[in-house]
Amino acid sequence: MTGQPGLIASALVMSVIVGVRYLLTSGAFALATRRVRPGLYAGLSRQMRREVGWSLLSALLYGIPAGVVAWGWQAHGWTRIYTDVQAWPLWYLPLSLLLYLAVHDTWFYWTHRLMHRPWWFRVAHAVHHDSRPPTAWAAMSFHPWEALTGALVIPALVFLVPIHVAALGCVLAIMTLMGVTNHMGWELFPRRIVEGRMGRWIITATHHQKHHDVYRGNYGLYFRFWDRLCGTDKGLGRWDGVPPDQDAQDRRPPRPAAAARRQ
Ligand SMILES: [Zn+2]
Ligand SMILES: [Zn+2]
Repeated sequence: MTGQPGLIASALVMSVIVGVRYLLTSGAFALATRRVRPGLYAGLSRQMRREVGWSLLSALLYGIPAGVVAWGWQAHGWTRIYTDVQAWPLWYLPLSLLLYLAVHDTWFYWTHRLMHRPWWFRVAHAVHHDSRPPTAWAAMSFHPWEALTGALVIPALVFLVPIHVAALGCVLAIMTLMGVTNHMGWELFPRRIVEGRMGRWIITATHHQKHHDVYRGNYGLYFRFWDRLCGTDKGLGRWDGVPPDQDAQDRRPPRPAAAARRQ
């Protein structure tokens, strides 16, 4: 279908795909959480229902630009998505994947940082931080304004940067998995990765947890590059229920009464 009905059908199909992908991925990790950390989501049923509602609304919004792209690609040959693996050198496959992640990360870092300014926070980002603590269902729990800022990056990129359809699939899979695992309340990766050389550059659940704990800093999506470059990296969070150590600049002197009690 090349006309308007085809375009609408494509947008609807994509919204359903994004919604089902969310339910399956978040559902799988919520189940895993029940096994690995029993009781972690106890008392959070209402919050989780809210997270699913916002996430399904986000899925609808994500599906529209994705549907337009899929329709334009199939019906008119728009976009720079290619299917013949020989069309570009093999080394370009991992490079294109990295390029997509880096551009998405850059866009996310700066829009996320902006959304932590008071007015933007109230209008667009408070919904995401209503999850305290977030669960595996919070992966796409965004206000529609925030969902829209996230929904347009990759659909815009496919018109500009050539990418093999399989590499694009990998980008979407990484985006989905990290969205879920970074919010599920426990760390998937072993400590030697999280605290090792790789963890210094890649965002893990332990890193994003700290963003949800202290509200400031750790704004990145996949990489710590921008946070480290701009001095907004607050380090790793903690999982033992104790509020994470705050950095020296965040730390306020203890009130005299509290200090006296401790002595
Ligand atoms: Zn935030
Ligand atoms: Zn988050």
